Amino acid sequence: MGVRRRAGGFVLLVNPILCDGFGHCAELAPDLVHVDEWGYPVIVTEPVPLANLAALESARYAVRGCPRQALRIERVSDAH
Ligand code: SF4
Repeated sequence: MGVRRRAGGFVLLVNPILCDGFGHCAELAPDLVHVDEWGYPVIVTEPVPLANLAALESARYAVRGCPRQALRIERVSDAH
């Protein structure tokens, strides 16, 4: 019996109505979030494998650190 790998992936999603555009999330998850010229987050849309624990932790950090609770992590099944 081998070690079971975590299948699937995740994407970090922003609710643009709640977002204040100060770009705090880009500091908390710089690999996943960049800010546009107005300070609003531009998030990587390609699913990230759940096995990428560093990226997952970084996304969780951003979700917890968002002052407007505008971020959420959504699981997807087709990460490569
Ligand atoms: S931390 Fe939250 S409120 Fe601030 S820019 Fe990012 S998503 Fe928007």
